[in-house]
Amino acid sequence: MENWDLVIMGGGAAGLSAGIYAARSGLKTLIIEEKMSGGTTADAPTVENYPGFNRISGADLAEKMSTHCRKTGVTINEIETVTGLDLKLDRKIVRTTQTEYETKTVLVATGSHYRELGVPGEKEFRGRGVSYCGVCDGPLFKGKRVLVVGGGNSAAITTLYLSGIVSEVIVVHRRDTFRCEETLAKDVQSKPNVQVVWNAKIKEIKGEKSVNKVVLFDAKIDTAREVPVDAVFVQVGEAPNSQVAKDSGIEVNEEDYIKIDIFQRTNMQGVYAAGDVTNHPVKQIGTAVGQGITAALEAYSFIRRPYYRKEG
Ligand SMILES: Cc1cc2nc3c(=O)[nH]c(=O)nc-3n(C[C@H](O)[C@H](O)[C@H](O)COP(=O)(O)OP(=O)(O)OC[C@H]3O[C@@H](n4cnc5c(N)ncnc54)[C@H](O)[C@@H]3O)c2cc1C
Repeated sequence: MENWDLVIMGGGAAGLSAGIYAARSGLKTLIIEEKMSGGTTADAPTVENYPGFNRISGADLAEKMSTHCRKTGVTINEIETVTGLDLKLDRKIVRTTQTEYETKTVLVATGSHYRELGVPGEKEFRGRGVSYCGVCDGPLFKGKRVLVVGGGNSAAITTLYLSGIVSEVIVVHRRDTFRCEETLAKDVQSKPNVQVVWNAKIKEIKGEKSVNKVVLFDAKIDTAREVPVDAVFVQVGEAPNSQVAKDSGIEVNEEDYIKIDIFQRTNMQGVYAAGDVTNHPVKQIGTAVGQGITAALEAYSFIRRPYYRKEG
């Protein structure tokens, strides 16, 4: 069985940043990635908020991160999925679709996935008007008319953020009241450029090169109509990719995000988590990078126990 100092589950921004720091610290490091390395960053059509790049495509940034990580000496196994973890002993076992690895430490950096509407046009126009992240893609629709789907906190926060950028926001919610905090609901309804359509659902997203309309079903009057919009922000929730971690005894919160302390430590010794899979409140490339770095340096401290390390 292959032996490693650090095995990282997931080759996104968090995992790759951790890899760079771990390898430069001298740790024998393996990243296991079920798809191609780069992670969700590669899905962002344009990234305009990652320091050092005014504007870069997500695919380019992901590629640069992967290449940088490989150059530091990290082994990246792509198209290999972690299916199980045995974390109780000092030598931990990572089971994958291909084999088993033994390692001193483990970092879970498996990210999360946005819940989809599951309507025609959603997949087709993803990245071409269909977005799951207002902070990321909102500025691309400056002065345009956009639609937000959802009624929880993330829908309300996204609506407030977009209302300061775009000309008009239409919020579509399947119930007749918001599920979000009361103050957020009040703020949303006080915005002059926000219109809320209650008891309604999106039936289809249409367009040519990019989104130009949706088919909206209004349950109150039992009719469907076409509404012209330039973008659809789907905010019906997201879920962490934490099942394998959870099954191995890593503690998660009520929404299944992995609980971490400020050193990215989980409840299991020598096991860390970083990025969108954790309960950190901000889910961005920059925060995933920072968390990955902290986790790698903490794994290094745990393994090497350098003289300056204070226990606790
Ligand atoms: C469309 C879109 C646009 C965005 N735009 C921006 C932006 O402009 N700016 C910004 O800062 N943020 C943006 N974000 C958010 C940003 O992409 C994420 O916050 C960040 O990429 C999270 O990094 P991560 O490493 O935690 O997770 P991810 O990048 O999701 O990486 C996790 C990786 O783990 C892999 N994995 C999962 N389970 C397993 C397993 N069992 N075994 C092996 N591998 C596994 C996945 O395949 C994935 O590659 C955007 C997100 C989306 C969806």
